[in-house]
Amino acid sequence: MSELQLNIKTVKFGGSSLASAEQFRKVKAIIEADPTRRFVVPSAPGKRFSDDIKITDMLYTAQRQAAAGEDFSETLNIIRKRYLGIAEELGLKLDLTDELNQIGFRLKEGATKDFAASRGEYLNGKLLAEYLGFTFVDAADVICFNDNGTLMMSETMMALRSRLENLPNAVIPGFYGSRQNGEIITFSRGGSDISGSLVARAVRAEIYENWTDVSGVLVADPRIVKDAAVINTITYEELRELSYMGATVLHEDAIFPVRAAGIPINIRNTNRPSDPGTFIVADDSADSDAPTGYTITGIAGKKGFCAINIEKAMMNSEIGFCRKVLTVLEELNISIEHMPTGIDTMTIIVSEEALKDREKTVISRIRKAVNPDNCTIEHGISLLAVVGRGMRRTRGTAARIFASLAHARINVKMIDQGSSELNIIIGLLDGDFEEAIRRIYSMFVDSTLS
Ligand code: ASP
Repeated sequence: MSELQLNIKTVKFGGSSLASAEQFRKVKAIIEADPTRRFVVPSAPGKRFSDDIKITDMLYTAQRQAAAGEDFSETLNIIRKRYLGIAEELGLKLDLTDELNQIGFRLKEGATKDFAASRGEYLNGKLLAEYLGFTFVDAADVICFNDNGTLMMSETMMALRSRLENLPNAVIPGFYGSRQNGEIITFSRGGSDISGSLVARAVRAEIYENWTDVSGVLVADPRIVKDAAVINTITYEELRELSYMGATVLHEDAIFPVRAAGIPINIRNTNRPSDPGTFIVADDSADSDAPTGYTITGIAGKKGFCAINIEKAMMNSEIGFCRKVLTVLEELNISIEHMPTGIDTMTIIVSEEALKDREKTVISRIRKAVNPDNCTIEHGISLLAVVGRGMRRTRGTAARIFASLAHARINVKMIDQGSSELNIIIGLLDGDFEEAIRRIYSMFVDSTLS
């Protein structure tokens, strides 16, 4: 059967949603409020307050200490207290002491980083399954990795389906799986999002709910725009553009499994469960036409870029000029972000990080390759992406963006609009970055709300 199952939701809860007994209670209430929330994917306990340390980080520390032959008992004790404390406060009979001792043994015997980190989700899954009265399904049995540590999609789908098929509900810990030889492998950080997406796809869920501590994807970074509005509906493509430019919402690899199966993702807030959150949908789904209220969907950006400016008279008639320059960067393994060109000028935007300690080499190699009249590097550039599927059908979007920047006397160093008309990328000086975001936000969002 390939149809989506209208009676199944897969729900993933992030670390802050399961950081304490109080948070566990909220999670239980959410799950019990909707019986179609049948498959639950938890993260490890996250931060309870801003200076708190995530369990995953403590486990990495314990493993590092163990590997260095240091005493890790204090670290393990903090971890132990956290789990036993949650269990006690919730009045659970499940005693994780043996499991925790076992982890201590394994660490002493040289357990891998992945094994250590995975225990955060494993133990939290055990607690949550007990608390909800759901079956615990060890991710090691159903999420399959090959010898290179890459996910084996079809094996994983088969294993998940055959294990979950006849279960009314289950808790499957996020973040890890195993190789055929049983060795535990984790995804990269934040990878429980991927586990949730895999489970949603395997059970052909109607929706993949990803519960976190914000009420959805915001139009702009709330550290820059106070009280930034929540995006109601965003397409996978738009989200990818925003994520690439620094918006942190979901693990990047979490999108592909559900996207391929046409399952929408709903980002929700555990602390405000009645907020509808953000729906992430396919571009061609009916929901993607849902009005966002404004032409743009979101604004994101990053600092830390530089521009390699190359000038040469008659550059336009020199065949192969761009290729030669790009070959230099390729040979130095430098990835390029954008490449605006003029008749006799070419600019390549790359990240500062990529150029670090190699500026002189880059310039001298470019000089050798194309003999330019001038080749300089300009630092302190920010890139900003204004993303919105609404731009395709709305004239004047670019004019509004640049008018808002012009009014703020912000100088635009580069403009790039992709052929999909989904986004406009703007290069600015670092000093103008925050103000530019605020101005564009206010042009599109505040003026619509007022
Ligand atoms: N607990 C893991 C981390 O902190 C995985 C996750 O939360 O998604 O990265």
